[in-house]
Amino acid sequence: MNILAECKGAKRIGISGHVRPDGDCVGSCLALYLYLTKSLPDADIKVFLEKPADIFSEIAGFDRINSTFGEQETFDVFFALDCSGDRLGEAEAYFLAATKKINIDHHISNSGCGDLNVVRPDLGAACEVLYDLMDKEILDKDIAMALYIGMIHDTGVFQYSNTTPDTLKRAAHLISFGFDFPRLIEETFYQKTYLQTQIMGRALMESIRFLNGRCIVSVIDRKTMDFYNVTPKDLDGIVNQLRNIKGVNCAIFMYETGVLEYKVSMRSDSCVDVAQVAAYFGGGGHMRAAGCTMKGTFHDCVNNLSLHIEKQLLENALR
Ligand code: AMP
Ligand code: MN
Ligand code: MN
Repeated sequence: MNILAECKGAKRIGISGHVRPDGDCVGSCLALYLYLTKSLPDADIKVFLEKPADIFSEIAGFDRINSTFGEQETFDVFFALDCSGDRLGEAEAYFLAATKKINIDHHISNSGCGDLNVVRPDLGAACEVLYDLMDKEILDKDIAMALYIGMIHDTGVFQYSNTTPDTLKRAAHLISFGFDFPRLIEETFYQKTYLQTQIMGRALMESIRFLNGRCIVSVIDRKTMDFYNVTPKDLDGIVNQLRNIKGVNCAIFMYETGVLEYKVSMRSDSCVDVAQVAAYFGGGGHMRAAGCTMKGTFHDCVNNLSLHIEKQLLENALR
């Protein structure tokens, strides 16, 4: 697919990504926004996202993000990035009403929801998919930085097993544009506020191991979030910290999103395919990082997840 050829003649172009946008989502949406604005100066181009974390405010175009989702608008072309259409939240209405729907993603759980789909589960980040689709002559420092941020967030700074030699080749080209990548990694990936660190400490302290220590779970309820005055964005990274524990094959982190409702994040090693588990409960993701929303008490949710995880641990042990 050639992005610019697909946008030829389009007067109104929209871009959006998934709810609770992460680095790959913000990076890919802004990289595409910058790329299209530069290449198609006569088109009216809009980017919609739920308000992203402030750490991403250094990405060019951040202040152009629409987070209010006004009245219904019709776009000639609408891009759904880093997700399938059903995770666009309020932007889904724009996507469904658009004349041409384009879906660019890397989630194994996405079977493609657009008129045109580029879904590459073999790539670590939606930003890598976009990089491959972009004309390299048009890239500049701002676009490169946006793509790079998406890549570091989804590959855990090139540590996770979704990192490939091609990931590093793409990243090598991107850093040649000369942005301050060590500072970006520090400020957008590793650095936490004091309150974020405190609530992470609490989640780690109160975590519970089960399935002979191969699984670990922790939960933060609404009251605790209010006590520390944090929002869901502040809970990023807790599930990864749980997964770092020696002997743990599968980590689960949950936070309360409503009455008897939890957002669930899972991380695993090669023993468990959490995308499968999440998909069973209506969510999705990747083999080693996936999520879903579940209803019921905390114990109901853990019991239900545990059945699926245990089954996989047993099956994989037999292989
Ligand atoms: P999270 O634990 O929310 O950081 O998500 C881990 C991975 O799973 C990310 O790639 C998400 O985009 C994906 N994911 C999380 N929740 C869902 C969901 N409800 N449906 C589909 N994919 C999800
Ligand atoms: Mn994402
Ligand atoms: Mn992604």
